[in-house]
Amino acid sequence: MIVDAHLDLAYNALDLGRDLTLPLSELRQRKGEGEETPMVTLPALKEAGVGLAFATVFVDPKAHAGRLWEEARRQVALYRAWEERGLVRLLRDGEDLKRHLEAYPRDGVLGLVLLLEGAHPLPEPEALEDLYREGVRLLGPAWATGSPYAGGNAHPGPLTPMGEALLLKMEELGVALDLSHLADEAFFQALEHYEGPVLVSHANPRALAPTPRNLSDGMLLALRARGGVLGLVPFNAFLDAGWKRGMPRLPLARFLEHKAYAEGLLGREGVGLGSDWDGGFGLESVPLGLEGHGDLKRLGDEAFLGGNWLRWLSSWL
Ligand SMILES: [Zn+2]
Repeated sequence: MIVDAHLDLAYNALDLGRDLTLPLSELRQRKGEGEETPMVTLPALKEAGVGLAFATVFVDPKAHAGRLWEEARRQVALYRAWEERGLVRLLRDGEDLKRHLEAYPRDGVLGLVLLLEGAHPLPEPEALEDLYREGVRLLGPAWATGSPYAGGNAHPGPLTPMGEALLLKMEELGVALDLSHLADEAFFQALEHYEGPVLVSHANPRALAPTPRNLSDGMLLALRARGGVLGLVPFNAFLDAGWKRGMPRLPLARFLEHKAYAEGLLGREGVGLGSDWDGGFGLESVPLGLEGHGDLKRLGDEAFLGGNWLRWLSSWL
């Protein structure tokens, strides 16, 4: 099965008003003026053989200012509603994962592990207990704009005392640390203050595309030292720092260069996929040759496409 370490499903459904239960072709027909072409619906993931995804609870801090917590709860409730309809299976522990791996070949139901992308919706670290009960098992302390817990890639700053308390709460509950989007300073401080499992759900090597959103060699090596896995993003702006919206799509070879570079530092067992598809961009912003999840097979072998994430997840969930 394919494992995708980063999909903003609830955000697409609730903020963009997309009906993700539709076939992809239908959702694409409904695309609005100026909107990029959608890549993801639940039936499209099923057809492509995506059996597991890390699905985000991502609350746009501007759009939902003043009601961040309520919006996070609303996104979790959507995943729960999908689960009740039999559209997805939420995986909360190792037993759930084992059962999913047995059932998936028969029923093709998508397994989800919930990922809180940016801790800004948490009014205090203890609030994580609520989301944990609902199934959140992965957490990135900051999104781009930072949070009361840590600096982000577009708003640099350290890990704060609240961030340290949050990391302790995560260790206590058994929530893995997603280092994506952290400012460099906060990235290394978070590793110092947290002893549990770590990942980078979606980022690329900075050596090939120098932007603060991508990871330096030192960060990639620190991830390796902790047994973490990196989810590579087939998004042109993360593959070429000079690429802007409206420019021609990049060749697929550009992604493969990033993959080879990342594997050079992390080993082939340390790199997987974190598409981030429809996380604020669509078809026009991904490399040529990738029209949807069905084309991901062109990017790597079974270990890259799913095995590495499954091994990482089974090691602690
Ligand atoms: Zn993101």
